[in-house]
Amino acid sequence: MNVLVLNCGSSSIKYQLLSMDAQPVILAKGIVEKIGLPCGNFTYKAEGRDKIAIEQPIADHSIGMDLILKTLVDPKLGVLSSLNEINAVGHRVAHGGEYFPESVKIDKEAKAKIKALGEIAPLHNPANLKGIETMEQLLPSVPQVAVFDTSFHQTLPKKAYIYGIPYEYYEKYGVRKYGFHGTSHKFVAEKACNLLGWDIRDKKIITCHLGNGASITAIDKGKSVDTSMGFTPVAGLVMGTRAGDLDLGALIYIAQKEKLDLNEINTLVNKKSGVQGISGVSSDFRELTTAWENGNERAQLALDVFAYHVKQYIGAYAAILNGVDLVIFTGGIGENDFYIREAVCENMEFLGIKLDKKINAVTRGADVTLSTPDAAIKVMTITTDEELVIAMETVRLSH
Ligand code: AMP
Repeated sequence: MNVLVLNCGSSSIKYQLLSMDAQPVILAKGIVEKIGLPCGNFTYKAEGRDKIAIEQPIADHSIGMDLILKTLVDPKLGVLSSLNEINAVGHRVAHGGEYFPESVKIDKEAKAKIKALGEIAPLHNPANLKGIETMEQLLPSVPQVAVFDTSFHQTLPKKAYIYGIPYEYYEKYGVRKYGFHGTSHKFVAEKACNLLGWDIRDKKIITCHLGNGASITAIDKGKSVDTSMGFTPVAGLVMGTRAGDLDLGALIYIAQKEKLDLNEINTLVNKKSGVQGISGVSSDFRELTTAWENGNERAQLALDVFAYHVKQYIGAYAAILNGVDLVIFTGGIGENDFYIREAVCENMEFLGIKLDKKINAVTRGADVTLSTPDAAIKVMTITTDEELVIAMETVRLSH
């Protein structure tokens, strides 16, 4: 069975075509970028062949998807002989609100709910819906499935998701903590338990998904009980360009001083803050590390602030879980950046965290135990694969 996985943003479409028979295999993948701009970008990488990059204007999502499908069946470049070989399409959908505690096969009702949630996720859900509707037109007889970033966190207890503001805003507008990156947190926790031969139902796990967007989740007996992102992905950790948790009074003060309107505040906290804002150098951790090695103190400060926040959340979630069996690092930074992992785990012996620094220093992009054998808490890097989760969910629901 072949599954096309799509992650549609407002001006981009990431795609992967996977064969899900026996062992999953990525047949082709790539990205369509800068949709609607004068100069669009299309990349395509088929299994065992060189990557292709084409620059051409791509007016809208439907043209972008058409390009993907045509390339997949192209006599020279393609990996399929006909579009009939695509058996199902899985979509990453950012916000499932309280409607979707699980992935869902797309129908009229599901689309109406995804549309309604565009109110609270205006940057993501409308683009996700556009992807679904375009695919319905291009492949009308193929089943489609939506996998939500928020679903895994629907098990949070109410005390963890209600904000300290008038309750009527929850009732009227659904303002509460939802959390994101759910597919990744669930996937790495289950993968680690499988590798260790553990039953997740007896374990307390903290998963640190540290990428350009970053979030931490407390998992008790396989269920998410708290997570650092909130109503939107801007909450929690300091991230690449997002501010994370912030004194709202400070934000109001800055807005008054700089005479910022709501759009400008939105841009400030989402695009100009985080380690980019602190360092003035970059949102990318590799560039920050290079700048720090060259003596840039603000780059070092940004890395220190990031690691400090991760440590704070681990401490908080250890308290909420009443103990921890396993801490997992994943995402681009979590899987690769040994300095950040070391800085987070430093001086945590009281809790039972003890890294083998030599193993930590050489671990990149692999599933590895980093803690010493005598440590009370296991620490691991686990590679995440959100597309694979979406493909597996799509297979499960599309029959
Ligand atoms: P993601 O959003 O999960 O793709 O993660 C992107 C972040 O991971 C960027 O800040 C990258 O600089 C960082 N990253 C990726 N590879 C490495 C690496 N080898 N060392 C340090 N950071 C890395």
